[in-house]
Amino acid sequence: MTVSVVLFTADLRLHDHPPLRAATGSADHVVPLFVRDRAIEAAGFAVPNRRAFLADCLRDLDAGLRERGGRLVVRGGAVVAQVCRLAREAGAAEVHMAAGPSGYAQERERRLREELAAQGGRLVVHDAVTCVVPPGAVTPAGSDHFAVFTPYFRQWSAQALRTPVPAPRRVSVPDGLGSERLPDRAGVPGTSPGLAAGGESEGRKRLAAWLRRGVEAYEERHDDLAGDATSRLSAHLHFGTLSPVEVAHRARRHAGAGAEAFVRQLAWRDFHQQVLAARPATAAADYRTRHDDWRGADAEPDVAAWREGRTGYPVIDAAMRQLAHEGWLHNRARLLTASFLTKTLYVDWRTGARHFLDLLVDGDIANNQLNWQWVAGTGTDTRPNRVLNPLAQARRYDPDGAYVRRWVPELRDLAAPAVHRPWTSPSGPPRGYPPPIADLSTALTRFRVGRGLT
Ligand SMILES: Cc1cc2nc3c(=O)[nH]c(=O)nc-3n(C[C@H](O)[C@H](O)[C@H](O)COP(=O)(O)OP(=O)(O)OC[C@H]3O[C@@H](n4cnc5c(N)ncnc54)[C@H](O)[C@@H]3O)c2cc1C
Repeated sequence: MTVSVVLFTADLRLHDHPPLRAATGSADHVVPLFVRDRAIEAAGFAVPNRRAFLADCLRDLDAGLRERGGRLVVRGGAVVAQVCRLAREAGAAEVHMAAGPSGYAQERERRLREELAAQGGRLVVHDAVTCVVPPGAVTPAGSDHFAVFTPYFRQWSAQALRTPVPAPRRVSVPDGLGSERLPDRAGVPGTSPGLAAGGESEGRKRLAAWLRRGVEAYEERHDDLAGDATSRLSAHLHFGTLSPVEVAHRARRHAGAGAEAFVRQLAWRDFHQQVLAARPATAAADYRTRHDDWRGADAEPDVAAWREGRTGYPVIDAAMRQLAHEGWLHNRARLLTASFLTKTLYVDWRTGARHFLDLLVDGDIANNQLNWQWVAGTGTDTRPNRVLNPLAQARRYDPDGAYVRRWVPELRDLAAPAVHRPWTSPSGPPRGYPPPIADLSTALTRFRVGRGLT
């Protein structure tokens, strides 16, 4: 009688799950395991929005396993010790899991391999589970990763994708293994009121609806702030309730500019993963230092205004309020708010990245930290000193002001263009809405001086 453990991490699904497929195909019994990892909790990463979404994911995963005759085993503690202990309890010779790009995931993999080997077991790590093309699969001559997206994307697009594997029909779990109770979303305090539901079933429904109705218009509409015309699949990709490989395959079946542009975004996700995998320190350190002299304590009132959505720049405030309300934000809104913090207010990108990680349901080390660095100009952007003007961007991406009116009720009675510049309104700025906290041209000078450009 053979037993294998499947350690679920950022791959909380049954469809297209190579580790589960390999384990069910090679062992008589399988132990599907999720470890509530004490180190991730201690690092402040298990924030309410993601804990609530995770609770949905674990419940749905358990329900899916039960339909197939199995169940999910949940344990809490130090992940390596817990996996080794469970492998001993179950008499498992192999542990299957997905590769992860972060320094933490790489170290976890190394220690698991070592400690399982010490007790006579074996770790089997599967690639292309949490990404389409794994880090290191395509590289430029003379380097271990791509630092520029366009050549990366060219090679990424030429890769043959693995074929998605079906969900197992049956999962036989050995008796007698203890499990913690599954967490419940309702038991998580402090979540955003408009937080989306998690879980593979929800993710699959969302993907099907998106491919049926949304993807075709993605190319023309994805930057329209009020249109909300993007997939909103990011949290499902972050938690792995959807397989990126399956998403890419299914999207590619929809020929057209919309599907192409959407698949390109999946490549951006992989791009950041391969940067992080090769340079794990960039989770906290500049990828390319610009020797910034970021503002210090004097910036605190500005940072507080940014967080609370009262900078006096309506499009920025709308975005920051949406982030607090939903734990999610449109890509254009992320670009604008990040540029405002790092360039206009000249505040260290780590301050903004931390706030995003505190709230985003899709908050992801590779995608968040490296996108923040991209915007701050310390990352992989080939134009590191570009500054997004919040007024010009608002005019372009929220031309009639619908996005601002949706999230900033004080401005609900203003039409465009005054809704984006309330201080120009003939009746004066609406009561309760603050004046701009920064003058854009003074701010530009501060940024250029701080970065040593003038
Ligand atoms: C400052 C900043 C911080 C960000 N933090 C995160 C984060 O923590 N987690 C996260 O998943 N994304 C992050 N992004 C990337 C992007 O904004 C979101 O993935 C996207 O807005 C999610 O919405 P969607 O699912 O509707 O995306 P869609 O536009 O429908 O795109 C489809 C998928 O492609 C991926 N994707 C889209 N844009 C990007 C991008 N610029 N970089 C990498 N992948 C992308 C996402 O997985 C997304 O779900 C960040 C971007 C910026 C500028």
